[in-house]
Amino acid sequence: MTAVTSTSWTAPGDPGDEWHSPLYHAAVEQLGRAADLLDLDDESRARLREPRRSLTVNFPVRMDDGEVVVFTGYRVQHTLTMGPTKGGLRFAPHLSLGECAALAMLMTWKTALVGLPYGGAKGGVRCDPGLLSDHERERVTRRFASELVPMVGPDQDIPAPDVATGEQEMAWFYDAYSQAIGHAAPRVVTGKPVELGGIAARREATGVGVVEVAAAVLEHQGKAVEGSSFAIQGFGNVGRVVAERLQSLGGRVVALADVGGGVHDPAGLDVGAIAGWSEEHGGLRDCPFGRPIDSRQALTTECDVLVPAAIERQLTPEVASEVRCSLVVEAANGPTVPGADRLLAARGIQVVPDVLANAGGVIASHHEWVQARQRAPWDDRTVAEQIGARLRAATARVIETAAERNVDWRMAALGIAVDRVARAGRLRGVFP
Ligand code: NAD
Repeated sequence: MTAVTSTSWTAPGDPGDEWHSPLYHAAVEQLGRAADLLDLDDESRARLREPRRSLTVNFPVRMDDGEVVVFTGYRVQHTLTMGPTKGGLRFAPHLSLGECAALAMLMTWKTALVGLPYGGAKGGVRCDPGLLSDHERERVTRRFASELVPMVGPDQDIPAPDVATGEQEMAWFYDAYSQAIGHAAPRVVTGKPVELGGIAARREATGVGVVEVAAAVLEHQGKAVEGSSFAIQGFGNVGRVVAERLQSLGGRVVALADVGGGVHDPAGLDVGAIAGWSEEHGGLRDCPFGRPIDSRQALTTECDVLVPAAIERQLTPEVASEVRCSLVVEAANGPTVPGADRLLAARGIQVVPDVLANAGGVIASHHEWVQARQRAPWDDRTVAEQIGARLRAATARVIETAAERNVDWRMAALGIAVDRVARAGRLRGVFP
């Protein structure tokens, strides 16, 4: 028998090459800093750095004009230590395995931070959702769901809405999965329409949660939503709810933008009117309710609180040097690149990290999943109270840990989460 050296088992290149993407490298860098803070052992670092499972699928879909187009989709599960995995499905033109790997890791930290029994996952289809008709979107979603049948399941991996997906896509996914396994399996996705076992609170939970966390942080700083000014990039599932909620609490929304354009008014925008206009015109391009701005300008508008609520990697060092606010609340996942993080800190601008700020959505999803398991509906008020309570407790813990360890809020949040997952991993041990 020939001796096997350790290199025989190692694929060429460094670990993590398969997942190469700027966002994945940023996620690994953040994990490394949190691990240093915790003085984490090498074994735990190695186990947490790479996703446990990933699936890439290429599948054909017949378009409305009869042409067959092959789409690429991904699903990545970061850790299986904490229970089933949980995370959104997105439709995006440049989606990659590396982006899904990074976002899956972020989901692990988010669920651990707020104490949910899940590991992180993420996936989606590489496509331009704006170019798909409703029928095409349905066929893409259903075919993708059937491709994922071996990987997802109510106690395995539970998708949810993310960028450019929502209740309708979750309904199609649920139906396609149920057809494949022969019975209804409502727990396979969350973020479903209420008629199919969704919960009303899930629709707005991410945005409402962002405001809940922002309010708790402002209160800690001796300030309040009422009387503060806010600039928001992204006007979709999350950004729109954030804007509406802030305004209803007396906040002044001074800038709003989506991918096509935006508006600015230092005296405060009429969010309701802008939402109506956006719905009617399919976005904020040429919106007449304020001075026109683009989505980058929304990030550099003078305000008290900046809320990136669109996509990842928007706050680059260049943008961060022009930001004019005292607080950033990350409603989007991964909106700040590591270099920009350091620059913001040097400028005295504090950042509420994504894993805390936007955790309201996955907390509501957990309620939806538990409700389906119990087959007994919960009332909306109980769900809303429990989401708020979990977020306030996590915010207080992050602020306290940051002060104790003299680190920023991102490192405090990641430190709490990584510690929890690493401890669980050590307790479960290594199979066999
Ligand atoms: P969405 O598709 O409903 O909205 C996205 C918004 O961002 C749209 O207004 C779009 O025009 C804008 N946008 C897209 N690309 C842009 C670009 N290049 N520049 C500027 N704006 C751009 O998505 P969403 O569900 O609101 O998600 C927004 C962010 O929040 C994402 O990072 C997502 O991962 C995160 N998030 C969402 C949820 C949820 O429950 N939907 C939960 C947690 C985190």
